[in-house]
Amino acid sequence: MLTIDILLYILALVITIWAQSKVQNAYQHFAKVANERRLSGYAVARDILNRNGLYNVQVQVSQNGLLSDHYDPKSNTVNLSPKVYNDASIASVAIAAHEVGHAMQYAENYSMVGVRNSLLPLAIVSGHAGWIVLIIGLAARIDILFLAGIIMVGIIGLFQLFTLPLEFDASKRALVQLSDGGYVNTDEVADAKEMLSAAALTYVAALVATLLQILRFVMIYGRRRN
Ligand SMILES: [Zn+2]
Repeated sequence: MLTIDILLYILALVITIWAQSKVQNAYQHFAKVANERRLSGYAVARDILNRNGLYNVQVQVSQNGLLSDHYDPKSNTVNLSPKVYNDASIASVAIAAHEVGHAMQYAENYSMVGVRNSLLPLAIVSGHAGWIVLIIGLAARIDILFLAGIIMVGIIGLFQLFTLPLEFDASKRALVQLSDGGYVNTDEVADAKEMLSAAALTYVAALVATLLQILRFVMIYGRRRN
């Protein structure tokens, strides 16, 4: 029988897969579209950083594969996957500029960075143990453990919520820098925006999926208590 909580689970799964496939498709498409000035992700990242006085931020190749691009605040480095680093595509410059956007947030102590980071230790513990605690509490019928697991998954959701403004802001900065710096033309800014919107969607989908899962387990918890 298709119960409401199985339905919620399927919905969470479908939303996650849909968002992932959207970003993969956008990337596959825009990775094949060369930008007019033939600038690599590295060239654009390095130049935007310099234009903003961030000479101390290094840009390096990340070996973690496709879409592993990220800014690392610990080492203060922008890490770009090989294709983004080397290729002169729309996807490369959009993603590179987005990661530089994160470096800019840290450089100017953007308020949401502090808000999110204050939750980081709890979010890491919850990320590692939340689901395990929840499943054990559910399977062994230990209500207090089940509830603790739900709360920990709630903390994961809160962290995902606080991540959203940082992601939107980094993309906004990326588009401003790309057009102000003259790296791309007007049409290419629109393409870069489409690429970054698809990427941002995965963060929204992850949050929605977590919320649906929480709702599902709260319902199961409620039924057990009755
Ligand atoms: Zn980002």
